[in-house]
Amino acid sequence: MEKIRMTTPLVEMDGDEMTRVLWKMIKEELLEPFVELNCEYYDLGLPNRDATGDQVTMDAALANKKYGVAVKCATITPNAQRVEEYKLHEMWKSPNGTIRAVLDGTVFRTPIVISCIKPVVKNWKKPITIARHAYGDVYKGTELRVPGPGKAELVYTAADGTETRLPVYDFECPGVLQAQYNKDTSIASFARSCFNFALDARQDLWFATKDTISKKYDHTFKDIFQEIYDAEYKARFEAAGIEYFYTLIDDAVARVIRSEGGFIWACKNYDGDVMSDMVSTAFGSLAMMTSVLVSPDGCYEYEAAHGTVTRHYYRYLKGETTSTNPMATIFAWTGALRKRGELDGNAALMTFADKLEAACLTTLEKGIMTKDLCGLAEGITPTPVDSLGFIRAIRAELETSLS
Ligand code: NAP
Ligand code: MG
Repeated sequence: MEKIRMTTPLVEMDGDEMTRVLWKMIKEELLEPFVELNCEYYDLGLPNRDATGDQVTMDAALANKKYGVAVKCATITPNAQRVEEYKLHEMWKSPNGTIRAVLDGTVFRTPIVISCIKPVVKNWKKPITIARHAYGDVYKGTELRVPGPGKAELVYTAADGTETRLPVYDFECPGVLQAQYNKDTSIASFARSCFNFALDARQDLWFATKDTISKKYDHTFKDIFQEIYDAEYKARFEAAGIEYFYTLIDDAVARVIRSEGGFIWACKNYDGDVMSDMVSTAFGSLAMMTSVLVSPDGCYEYEAAHGTVTRHYYRYLKGETTSTNPMATIFAWTGALRKRGELDGNAALMTFADKLEAACLTTLEKGIMTKDLCGLAEGITPTPVDSLGFIRAIRAELETSLS
């Protein structure tokens, strides 16, 4: 069989530990035999980030902006223990944070569903995608532990020096105080990323905040979404037969649980942080979750939602075989290849991505799975395999479907 060709380079960001091991296996077994990979390679593994003074992360993010599509392996975000372990020159920042700052994106996470793993919520029939605004709010908040009686105020000084002063509370005892912010530009980017994603996926978009209580802060989110929807997206949503609707966050939670799934739920930063863990856990596992960062100007970065699976890596280093689930990393590749194919008008590449995903699902439906899933599977007797065994089983399915 002739290998599929690619016209535009895909930005490849390699990573760390167990996921770096899986990365190589996936390329060797599932990609390189079938596709003439045209990748611009950036090694975001911690040793190389340290050797380049983290320049490689910035270069990779800029390449993502230049070419539009990237696939990223999970990477270590260093803490004090990692500085010691890797003898780092500095405690480098989170690569995901650097890439998000360059792309200004929204993170979309969708569970990969298979029939033998049932969601905890029994009426969920289709995946629910969480769209998390990844900027501002409590993550950029300023906090104060109030030591005792005193007056707290909110002060804004305009560029011309005019002051606006609002009373917060007259403390009669110790307490806590917090200020947080967001920007219209970032909220607008968030809104456009969500509307574009909904059109791509042909799914309804839900958005919820607490605007009844937060009459300025949350209400601004609601208004910006509505203005952009009315001006730029309403006609396209109607033509696609999909819906945008806004509701209160508590109402949304109740509706999500009663729904059958199959929609996108846009969440403010904190809500998205919390709700994506709830939704992914209720659907099964973080290893069965796709994740993509979408920028408002149409750049895409595909990754796995989980980390570098350190505990498995240490066992791998001792020579043990591990049963680490490569699904999320494989789906990062298929998502990126399909998007590259779509942007380049490369139908063969898109079909390959579809067939590789189908081969993964068929393998799982036959009960061949990594150990993390064996305990979740219902109605079948699973065959536990190690990572390479699983990848080779997928390859056999893929070869059948391609021939
Ligand atoms: P993790 O790598 O997601 O792993 C936590 C645990 O979840 C694992 O020990 C394993 O449980 C299970 N698990 C996760 N992915 C799995 C998979 N594919 N197959 C099977 N089991 C899986 O999180 P972590 O241990 O907290 O973080 C490790 C490193 O990853 C950290 O250095 C962190 O900075 C980094 N990280 C990176 C990203 C990213 O790049 N996007 C995201 C999160 C964390 P058992 O051990 O019980 O089998
Ligand atoms: Mg979280």
